Amino acid sequence: MLIAKTFEFDAAHRLSLHSGKCKNLHGHRYKVVVQIEGEINQEPSASCGMVKDFGDFSVIKSWLDEKMDHAYISQKDDSIAAVCEKEWLKIYYMDAPTTAENIAKHLHETFQSFFPVHSIQVYETPATRALYPW
Ligand SMILES: [Zn+2]
Repeated sequence: MLIAKTFEFDAAHRLSLHSGKCKNLHGHRYKVVVQIEGEINQEPSASCGMVKDFGDFSVIKSWLDEKMDHAYISQKDDSIAAVCEKEWLKIYYMDAPTTAENIAKHLHETFQSFFPVHSIQVYETPATRALYPW
């Protein structure tokens, strides 16, 4: 069975190599759907009848709030990031272009340290999203 919890945060980014409007600094209300795969716990316990207690996802909310909410999500060598550093603004660095695809892959890898995550969906807009892994 799959269960999921959805989180939202606001952040800025740009795709410096993009040939269109996405090369400009802009923001998104990102939506992140975290999916967990597992069997329903049948043992008499506090989590009986659950795959995972949705309250356990609070570590992910805290991580997103601390690291990415109202941040500039950037690659290290970005000129806008240099300005943000000079102004002491919040930056979250990634090793790849900050596309929804790369953010989904990055969050999938990062959240494994909390608990096994099946997949991550990242919505940049209500109509555009990336799912990792496929
Ligand atoms: Zn964008």
